[in-house]
Amino acid sequence: MRPFVFINVAMSADGKISTRERRQVRISGDEDFSRVDRIKAESDAIMVGIGTVLADNPSLTVKSEERRAGRRAAGRDEHPIRVVVDSEGRIPLSADILHKGTGKRIVAVSARAPPERVEALREHATIITAGDEAVDLAALLEELYRQGVRRLMVEGGGTLIWTLFEQGLVDELQTFVGNIVIGGKDAPTPADGTGFLREADFTQLRIIEAVRLDDGLLIRWSVERQ
Ligand code: NAP
Repeated sequence: MRPFVFINVAMSADGKISTRERRQVRISGDEDFSRVDRIKAESDAIMVGIGTVLADNPSLTVKSEERRAGRRAAGRDEHPIRVVVDSEGRIPLSADILHKGTGKRIVAVSARAPPERVEALREHATIITAGDEAVDLAALLEELYRQGVRRLMVEGGGTLIWTLFEQGLVDELQTFVGNIVIGGKDAPTPADGTGFLREADFTQLRIIEAVRLDDGLLIRWSVERQ
């Protein structure tokens, strides 16, 4: 068993999620910011790849005091469990995600993480070891389910999202398409990695809804076949 997995990503009109220097950019506006905060507050856990932590240093906390209070009233931590996929345990011990806001953190490593690194991280996070080289995402999701996670939000980046699609581990995709063009053949996209080669392998989506939001468009897709 695994949690319901949904991906949230903001991309430019030309399908980029940051600049070619992997610098974080504002793609959406206040309405979308509030939507993202709401879906974060509705999730049991929120997951990112180490590339995103190193590039953006996000805290992934729930920003609205009202929503945090709502979670407290329901007997939950103020913030969803923050999960970082990081084979070698490269996350800086000072990363915001390990310090900002109360609640549990999980760093998922593989067998190639140096033991001393894992020990240092244990002071700040629960460690899950899955996989020999990269983190075994299917095994990680099973373990998260075992630990009570039923709804998992994935906030990027393109490498992690790609592997989740490749391995058929995604239930829903939420794409905000912003009114900017970033350009650059090397700028990250919502699903990077190697990509599928055969049409038969493409993940098939169905639109659940498409609404105007800020100066862009929010599209919610369900995964029909993977
Ligand atoms: P990423 O997807 O955040 O992290 C990828 C890294 O995770 C891999 O390089 C690998 O590093 C680790 N990993 C371990 N096991 C893995 C597995 N099974 N599958 C995939 N990855 C695994 O990094 P990224 O692709 O470089 O994306 C970062 C960029 O995305 C930044 O530019 C950021 O600004 C952007 N971003 C944009 C948005 C948006 O919505 N616009 C959201 C988030 C991020 P190790 O081998 O070291 O473990």
